[in-house]
Amino acid sequence: MDNSEESKEARDQTELVSEDGKNSKTVLCQRCGSKVLCPGMAIFAEKELFLPSMRKKSGLSTTEGSVDGDTLTVHWLVNDMFDFENVGFTNDVGRIKYLICADCEIGPIGWHCLDDKKSYYIALERVNHA
Ligand code: ZN
Repeated sequence: MDNSEESKEARDQTELVSEDGKNSKTVLCQRCGSKVLCPGMAIFAEKELFLPSMRKKSGLSTTEGSVDGDTLTVHWLVNDMFDFENVGFTNDVGRIKYLICADCEIGPIGWHCLDDKKSYYIALERVNHA
């Protein structure tokens, strides 16, 4: 059995997560480099969330019917929206708001449910770390 890919992913995550389980690096928008989170502001969390494919904000509110996207499992969990440096939101899609870059409005980079005001998820795969 070849687990090399999985172990590489685990190594990458180890670099990003500090000993207390928080983000050790600054979280940035992949497109424009806008700062989303400072180091130490979010907790590493594993949860299966479906995020539509990245696109501009205008395309996100009209996600009726079948939506292409990815089920992502590793996220930064933020408890308070004021812990973000910069973040934007889409219009509600059902009970869900997607998090987008505040500057270039590309997204979704994260996920928030209106039923849980203290959980904001940022997908590790949708952001840069520096
Ligand atoms: Zn951006």
